[in-house]
Amino acid sequence: MSTPSTLSTPTDPPGVVGSAPARTFQVRTYGCQMNVHDSERLSGVLLEAGYAPAPPDEPADVVVLNTCAVRENADNRLYGNLGHLASVKAARPGMQIAVGGCLAQKDRGEITRRAPWVDAVVGTNTIGSLPVLLERARVRGQAQLEIREELEVFPSTLPTRRESASTAWVSISVGCSNTCTFCIVPSLRGVEQDRRPGDVLAEIRALVAAGVVEVTLLGQNVNSYGIGFGDRAAFAKLLRACGEVDGLQRVRFTSPHPASFTTDVLDAMAQTPNVMPSLHMPLQSGSSRVLKAMRRSYRKERYLSIIDEVHHRLPDAAVTTDIIVGFPGETEQDFSETLDVVGRARFASAYTFQYSPRPGTPAATMADQVPADVVRDRYQRLVTLVDEIAWEQNRALVGTEVELLVGESGGRKDDATARRSGRARDNRLVHFAAGGGPRAGSDPVAIRLGGPVAIRPGDLVGTRITTAAPHHLIADGAPLWIRATPAGDAWQRGLGAPVAATPGSADPRPVSVSLGMPGVGRRAVPAAAGH
Ligand code: SF4
Repeated sequence: MSTPSTLSTPTDPPGVVGSAPARTFQVRTYGCQMNVHDSERLSGVLLEAGYAPAPPDEPADVVVLNTCAVRENADNRLYGNLGHLASVKAARPGMQIAVGGCLAQKDRGEITRRAPWVDAVVGTNTIGSLPVLLERARVRGQAQLEIREELEVFPSTLPTRRESASTAWVSISVGCSNTCTFCIVPSLRGVEQDRRPGDVLAEIRALVAAGVVEVTLLGQNVNSYGIGFGDRAAFAKLLRACGEVDGLQRVRFTSPHPASFTTDVLDAMAQTPNVMPSLHMPLQSGSSRVLKAMRRSYRKERYLSIIDEVHHRLPDAAVTTDIIVGFPGETEQDFSETLDVVGRARFASAYTFQYSPRPGTPAATMADQVPADVVRDRYQRLVTLVDEIAWEQNRALVGTEVELLVGESGGRKDDATARRSGRARDNRLVHFAAGGGPRAGSDPVAIRLGGPVAIRPGDLVGTRITTAAPHHLIADGAPLWIRATPAGDAWQRGLGAPVAATPGSADPRPVSVSLGMPGVGRRAVPAAAGH
């Protein structure tokens, strides 16, 4: 791949040459966690090429839309957004627009045909080419497109600009070798390719050295991790190896697939203290007949037996799921099977979706599509039951003590209520009162901060739950304890504030972006979850 500097001209460089101010960029993310992580890489490659993040509320010189093809109306949304950007660009000479992500992979040349003011289209396998494409488009005055079917470089070797100082995504695989009939992922992201465990662990160690305290291992189907290199037990081994990484406080993963979920993963979860007691296990449907039509190779009873085992082995675990309502051919009886599983599995929460056909998937052309009003009605009944069960479980937590990892962006009402927000070990969202300081005799690291104890994003806080709602918990008493972490230090350094290093903290030198090593950005609002 050419580097941007080879494409720079002496007269008008992209922001890396001479004394011209760096061109600014903004990446807008749609879709799932994969896309959130891909956006971190899109930002990373732009930073490395000399671009600078646009200050909040200021127009950017380069706007990148990282698209999702899974969601309903994704196309309409993309072209609507591009229509709006056309007028912004017309008023701002030199501005460039790029489109990346799954829709770019799917629509390719169609994007620049429908929106000729787009400068660059970059596929899911060609993220690293973005700066070159932008520069080529600028020099040639012509839209540039680069899409590849196959992955040539594992994306994690690209520079990354992380959105959080405390938590990080770590890809363990890309693509998916399953063939669920409603899903466009396999045709857009290709068959599963696994990353070597040594590379995954090296990235995790580098992240921890930079202050990260929580990682989420990311793959479309983490349970099949290792099949590519001949080790079916590789995922459980990887979880155990994460337990050996000094300074890594929390490990999560998403998502396992019920068909390939094995007891050795549960053993590893139960026996590795930094693997958190939360499990996202996509159900999709409680009807074995529908599961078969979805080409998902587990059945209702198998799913329930996994959940029983999880609750037995990990009694504190919060289990969450994905459910699709109204898959073609779903009858009222099928739907009642889904309600039955929801009632028995006791999910802590569920991402619920109304089925709508995705062009290019086998289910889109199935004959017996369910009428939209029937889908809506079932969806409402499902959401009501899911919320009822979630709330019941949350109420049972009132009075219990929880450990929270303090988040960087809080709840919508946090400012008004003077609360902060954090995630409990089981990943439940908790809004907590931050005033009052810790009780006497609590963790000595808290005392190191002196005066009124500053609770920083990335620090750990102990508090007691006082109120439950269906989708969150509230802790309105003073924190019971506060533990400063290297993540809190890294966040503080990101503000330019001096910090006395917490034991085990990162090197206090400024964090920069380098190939394959993560840098830390200011946190953006996370995108909605995907399918
Ligand atoms: S739904 Fe998940 S497991 Fe099924 S094909 Fe899509 S990504 Fe793979």
